[in-house]
Amino acid sequence: MSIMASILRRKLPNHRTHVFLQLRLFSSSTSHFETTSPQQRIEKILVANRGEIACRIMRTAKRLGIQTVAVYSDADKDSLHVKSADEAVHIGPPPARLSYLNGSNIVEAAIRTGAQAIHPGYGFLSESSEFAQLVQDKGLTFIGPPASAIRDMGDKSASKRIMGAAGVPLVPGYHGSEQDIEIMKLEADKIGYPILIKPTHGGGGKGMRIVLSQNDFADSFLGAQREAAASFGINTILLEKYITQPRHIEVQIFGDKHGNVLHLYERDCSVQRRHQKIIEEAPAPGITDEFRSQLGQAAVSAAKAVGYYNAGTVEFIVDTITGQFYFMEMNTRLQVEHPVTEMIVGQDLVEWQIRVANGEPLPISQVHVPLSGHAFEARIYAENVPKGFLPATGVLHHYNPVSVSSTVRVETGVEQGDTVSMHYDPMIAKLVVWGENRSAALVKLKHCLSKFQVAGVPTNINFLLKLANHRAFVEGNVETHFIEHHKDDLFIDPNNKVICEDAYHAARLSASLVAACLCEKEHSVSRESYTGDQSLHSIWYSHPPFRVNHHAQSTMELEWENEYESNSSKPLMVSITYQPDGNYLIQMGENSAQSSEVKASHLGNDSYRVEADGVTMHVSLAVYTKDQMKHIHIWHGPHQHHFRQKVGIELSDEDESHHKTNFEGTSHPPGTVVAPMAGLVVKVLVKDGAKVEDGQPILVLEAMKMEHVVKATSGGYVQGLKVTAGQQVSDGSVLFRVKICTVFVSLELEYACLVDNINSNN
Ligand code: ADP
Repeated sequence: MSIMASILRRKLPNHRTHVFLQLRLFSSSTSHFETTSPQQRIEKILVANRGEIACRIMRTAKRLGIQTVAVYSDADKDSLHVKSADEAVHIGPPPARLSYLNGSNIVEAAIRTGAQAIHPGYGFLSESSEFAQLVQDKGLTFIGPPASAIRDMGDKSASKRIMGAAGVPLVPGYHGSEQDIEIMKLEADKIGYPILIKPTHGGGGKGMRIVLSQNDFADSFLGAQREAAASFGINTILLEKYITQPRHIEVQIFGDKHGNVLHLYERDCSVQRRHQKIIEEAPAPGITDEFRSQLGQAAVSAAKAVGYYNAGTVEFIVDTITGQFYFMEMNTRLQVEHPVTEMIVGQDLVEWQIRVANGEPLPISQVHVPLSGHAFEARIYAENVPKGFLPATGVLHHYNPVSVSSTVRVETGVEQGDTVSMHYDPMIAKLVVWGENRSAALVKLKHCLSKFQVAGVPTNINFLLKLANHRAFVEGNVETHFIEHHKDDLFIDPNNKVICEDAYHAARLSASLVAACLCEKEHSVSRESYTGDQSLHSIWYSHPPFRVNHHAQSTMELEWENEYESNSSKPLMVSITYQPDGNYLIQMGENSAQSSEVKASHLGNDSYRVEADGVTMHVSLAVYTKDQMKHIHIWHGPHQHHFRQKVGIELSDEDESHHKTNFEGTSHPPGTVVAPMAGLVVKVLVKDGAKVEDGQPILVLEAMKMEHVVKATSGGYVQGLKVTAGQQVSDGSVLFRVKICTVFVSLELEYACLVDNINSNN
């Protein structure tokens, strides 16, 4: 055992040791505990999921010599998880309820392909006790906890009652079965505002509403019920005291079928937007060993109270004012953020899951769980940060994540060319890094984020970088309102001239590099052979392109997509002169004083080496065409910029106005409200022609199970509201217009006439 212990205490210097550690742990465990007979072992697993988690589960299965079966909807037939599997079974159309949530179809697929076990991943059916039971009833193994534990914990109200009885601390609240709105309102009064309304069968922060006063109770309650029904099929609600300055700290637990339960330390998941985690880390910064051990023990008690086995997470909310921690809920599955735990304990939790499902005992006891270094996970989403983190959809025209190593993991389920569709979660990848301490891990996180290349859909990468660089984050002062509290630093106010000027300056440098690189690429092609290929010329206003030993000048106009000022872009005029010595002289705008000497060499694909004013740097570019615009993304050092350019060399006036309309969205009359994302209209709250107040909710859109309320942008009369519940709308499509009217009309009759007038005026 002393050799074992010394192995466990070792840091994780490289991947080989990492794997060795795992193998060592499992081989030693078999000598201590009973083994299972060979015929009971799982040899083929069906993964009832998609995306990164399906790929990640299959990777471990393959390492263990286990065959894998994927399931897929029509939207996923060419996706990575299908390609990663030994076999794949089509299970239905894109909407999840008809495919990934169709339990009987999935069990049928497992039986048909001879899989003995089903791994549910996270989301979809992972926390459906009916599904776990069905799998078992059909003689298959569910790689997860017993159906009874899923049932007990799936209902947040019931789980709180069980945990209270087991002595686990609870947030003050109401989690009874009464759902009448008036009675709930009285319960809310008893708890005291602010309160938090939560769906009892929820997840991912969906349907939760903070209520500051009794006046807002009814609206929030009904909204939460509606969102809960849409997302989880059950609309019951519980109430909790809203803790104003909390941290979200959760404990990874694991149990086997022999009654052993242990914990693998905690993860801090406080940094959230829309109640959804975006950066997680392990261990939690700034807590004492004593507090860590109290959390761990409470989590193990929670798991034992429901006869738990396999992987689970006990979530706690920690009140940073009182230092008190409370049980929030137990997630009866592998969590999205499990890799940060894997990195600090040097274990593969999917391997543990499979072995426990096989009936093997846990390989180590609590005192032998190693804790080494620090890990971060950043979730990279297709989303529109300036629009309030709304999910985005589209084609990944360029996708080049960072290289993986023993300390850098990229968990992804997509490849370049794939589409992020509105049917599923818009997460593109999880970037996971490990360092020997928090600051070393943070340096790595920032470096990898700046090198993570995604183009085609808007992402949160720049935002994650800003978060990771924020002083409070660097100091480990995380709490669930981190983003809100630091919004002035994280979202740059367009009125802050100094910061905007800095950003603009950085963009100008990038624009000049873009010009030099594209010019060099074109030039090197023409140097080799001038083919007359017109597609090469489209970047430039002057053509034909430069010729060898030819002193030439050209200009290009780039629109900088300025993410600091949502919906704004700045035109940048770059003029470039090719000099006989092979360098380019680049001038920005009219001011020739801002010129620089640049030498660019094309290294192949999207890579360039550029020497600008004596500094050499590596530059990557991605160029693609979308919506009649050429999009150019550049990465160099810690900088990333996105530029657009009109396609075609010279545009007629007519074409030009068409383009402007498309990409600046300025052609709509004032008061026009467009869909902020592609989605489904779930409810229209007012009639066309209705008089509305500024900010009044007009309709509710849903995409990826997230509700978004579209509001009036001013007071006035709603016009052109044609969409109806159940209708699909695309991003940017016109929903309605609020026509401002200063005449106050109180009589119904006059009001109707006015509406008629408004309609006929258009
Ligand atoms: P879900 O299952 O939908 O993810 P949780 O119950 O896990 O919902 O809560 C999600 C997040 O909401 C937590 O991480 C925390 O930030 C916040 N939260 C939950 N309960 C409370 C509370 N009582 N007071 C303040 N914030 C809370």
